[in-house]
Amino acid sequence: MILTIVKYPEPVLSQPGEPVTEFDAGLRKLVADMFETMYAGQGIGLAAPQVAVSKRLAVIDLSMGKDPEDKLVLINPEIIFHEGRQYEEEGCLSFPEIREKVVRSSKVSVRAQDETGKWFEMDGEDLLSRCLQHEIDHLDGMLFIFRMSALKRNLSLRKIRKMQSAGEW
Ligand SMILES: [Zn+2]
Repeated sequence: MILTIVKYPEPVLSQPGEPVTEFDAGLRKLVADMFETMYAGQGIGLAAPQVAVSKRLAVIDLSMGKDPEDKLVLINPEIIFHEGRQYEEEGCLSFPEIREKVVRSSKVSVRAQDETGKWFEMDGEDLLSRCLQHEIDHLDGMLFIFRMSALKRNLSLRKIRKMQSAGEW
């Protein structure tokens, strides 16, 4: 089922998500729906608050549905190590048409639970590292415009206001 993706400034996007404690059929259904919703929106990552569910859960697939091995489910994830710096363009399904460069770590290690509740650790570099940081930020209520420079953030906010008043947001 394709879920509705909420857009900035929907309050749920700015709230820290609650830890996931039930690893049941309801969770598996939410994960499946989030993948479907992410593919429909042609994104590479989607966090639960973006579908108005205030929980610490995100899905990632850099292959956009082409390679099942790229599918990542991150439940209660935490960044346990980061190093380096990258400055690349990012987008977000909750900010359609906004793309700006954001500073991120070039490499991260993440500890998270899978759909069954089992803990695992993984590393990500470059695009995967950026995506992991972007999605885990969502679970803390942190949005990528607040990682931009003040100049770029103000330009983005102006563009959003213009689209809102034209009924395009
Ligand atoms: Zn996002």
